[in-house]
Amino acid sequence: MSILQDTYRHKGLRKKLLELLRTKGITDEAVLTAMNNIPRHFFMDSALDNIAYEDRAFPIDADQTISQPYTVAYQTQLLQLKPNDKVLEIGTGSIYQATVLAELGTKVFTIERQKKLFDKTKQYIFKDKYPNLKFFYGDGFEGLPTFAPFDKVLITAAAPIIPPKLIAQLKTGGMMVIPLGEGETQQMLRLTKKADGSYSEELFENFSFVPMLKGKNA
Ligand code: SAH
Repeated sequence: MSILQDTYRHKGLRKKLLELLRTKGITDEAVLTAMNNIPRHFFMDSALDNIAYEDRAFPIDADQTISQPYTVAYQTQLLQLKPNDKVLEIGTGSIYQATVLAELGTKVFTIERQKKLFDKTKQYIFKDKYPNLKFFYGDGFEGLPTFAPFDKVLITAAAPIIPPKLIAQLKTGGMMVIPLGEGETQQMLRLTKKADGSYSEELFENFSFVPMLKGKNA
C-alpha cells in the first residue's frame, strides 16, 4: 500500500471544494474548518485520488458509498454540535463522516452492519489522533443501549422508518438527523426529543442515500 500523503495539490483542491460548499449554503464555520482539516482522499481507493475533491459520492467496499461532501456538511451542520456532545452515527462506511464529527471534538460512537467495512476500522489511520471515536459492528436499528443516552443521532443511510429504539436512546432536547424514505430520494429530517418522549420534526432538502438495512452482514 502506498503511503498516504496530503500534498499541496490535495490541499488546494480541498479549499476549492470548501468554497463550493459555501456557495451551496453551508455556513457553519466549525464544520467547514473540520472538513478542511481532513484529507478526504485518505478515505477512498487510491485510484480515485484525482477526483476525491469533487462534490460527489464515490464507491467504497461492500457496494457502499462515501457520502457526497455537501451531504456530510449539510447533515453535520444540522446537528448543531457542541464539543463533548455524545453522538451516535449509523453507517460508519468509509469513516469520513465519523472523522468530521471527531474533529469537532464530540464523543463519537459509530455502527456499521457490513463486517468487511467494520474490519477496516481496525486499521483506521487516525486512531491515535481521535481517541474520542469508537467503532461498533452491529445493526443501527438497535442503537447502542449500553452507551445511551446520546445528545445527537446521525443516520447516514436511507431510513425506511424513524427507528423507535434510536428515539428512545436520545436525551431530552437531543436531536436526530435522518434521511427518511425508501424510494430514489429521501427527505432530510431533524427531530428534537421532548420531555414527554415524543419529538418535533423539521423538514429539509432531498438527498439520495444507500439503504439502511436490518441485521448484520457477515
Ligand atoms: N457515513 C458514511 C456513509 C456510508 S454509506 C461515510 O462517511 O462514508 C452508509 C453506510 O451505512 C453503509 O456503509 C452501510 O453498510 C451502512 N448501514 C446500512 N444500514 C445499516 C444499519 N442498519 N446499521 C449500521 N450500518 C448500516
